[in-house]
Amino acid sequence: MIELTKECSSCGVEKPTDKFTRNKTKKWGLDSQCKLCKSRQDKEYRRKNKHKLRKYFEEYHVLNRERKIRIACTWQSNNKDKSNYNKRKNEIKRMKRLPSWITKEEFKQIEALYKKAKDLFKETGNEYHVDHIIPLNGKLVSGLHVLSNLQVILAKDNLSKSNRFMI
Ligand SMILES: [Zn+2]
Repeated sequence: MIELTKECSSCGVEKPTDKFTRNKTKKWGLDSQCKLCKSRQDKEYRRKNKHKLRKYFEEYHVLNRERKIRIACTWQSNNKDKSNYNKRKNEIKRMKRLPSWITKEEFKQIEALYKKAKDLFKETGNEYHVDHIIPLNGKLVSGLHVLSNLQVILAKDNLSKSNRFMI
């Protein structure tokens, strides 16, 4: 059996063709350099251009971040009325006002309130909200997302309530 070999343009060593990376754009359908030389060259290139490459990736990262934010903003402004967006927003708001000392048990009880609101809707046909007695983003004081600050009330009562709290 004849083994096909090719001379590497870099190290000049005659090597079996499987030691070369396939490259359709090249004459033999293979890279002119052997894999070993190629990886050595790549490493060398990365070493020499470390700062340039880092800058490139940093710029890419910044641009990409801005792009992502832009997309998110566009999406939000286009979907202002979408309940999903509001739900997510409320979730984030709740998470931010969720104290770290809250116990698993209390968390469960809070979740149960949301279930209760849903059940009440099913039973009565009226929409119920879980309301923060002291609003989470009140002007003077901000309430916490804790059991003692939560109540299940009719949605229409909740909507008529402003984010003000009397002290
Ligand atoms: Zn080589």
